[in-house]
Amino acid sequence: MSIRKLINLKFAFIFLLFFGCSKNSLVYEEIPQEVLYSCTDYDRLADPNFDSNDLYAFWEIFVADAKCSMSSSPDYDKLNTDVYIFYEYESDALFASGEVLDYGAYAASSCNDSRVRVGIAYRYWNDINIWQKLGLMYHEFGHDVLRYGHSSNPDDIMHATSPFASTYNGFIESKNRFFDKKFDGLRYLDCSWYEGYVSGTMRTNLPHILHDCDKDHN
Ligand SMILES: [Zn+2]
Repeated sequence: MSIRKLINLKFAFIFLLFFGCSKNSLVYEEIPQEVLYSCTDYDRLADPNFDSNDLYAFWEIFVADAKCSMSSSPDYDKLNTDVYIFYEYESDALFASGEVLDYGAYAASSCNDSRVRVGIAYRYWNDINIWQKLGLMYHEFGHDVLRYGHSSNPDDIMHATSPFASTYNGFIESKNRFFDKKFDGLRYLDCSWYEGYVSGTMRTNLPHILHDCDKDHN
C-alpha cells in the first residue's frame, strides 16, 4: 500500500470517528428530559402574563399543592383565615450605606395556626427565577404553616440558605420531600412558649418571644 493510500485511509478513519462521535452526541441531545409529575400544575407561573408581584398567587398554589400532595389532604386556606404576605424594603439609611437586607424572606407567625405572616425582601425577590421564588415561598409556608425548622441538605426547600432549585424538576424533587416530610434533619419549631402564652400560664413579653422564636429567615 502506498503512503498516499495510507494517508487517505487515515483521513477516512478520522472522518468516520468524528462523524460517529458527533452522531452519538446528537443522539444524547435528542433524549427528552423527563418532566416530573406533580398533582398540581404550575402553568400559571409559566404564563408570560403572570405577574410575580402577585404574592398571594403563590399561597394559592401552595394550598392546592398541599391538599393533593399530603396524605392528610389539609385545607390550609380554611385553617389559615388571616393571611398577609408583604414586601420588605431597605430603609433609606441602609440603602445609603450601600447594603441590602440580609435575608431573603421570613415567616413571623409559625405558632399561630390561623395566621400566616410572610415578609419577602423585594430586592432579593427580583433577583431570583420563578422556581426559586416558588421554593422561597414554600420555605416560608413550611415555617409558618407546617412549623418546619431548617433542613441540613442544600437541595431541600427547607435548607437555611436560599436560593433553592432553579429548575422545574429540581423544585418538584424538593417539594416532594417537603410534603412527604422526608428531608434531612427534619425538625419542628418549638411552639411550647406560644401555647403557654395563649393559655395564660406564661407571663412574658410577646414581641420579645416573637423575635426569638418565630422570626426565621433564610
Ligand atoms: Zn428559614
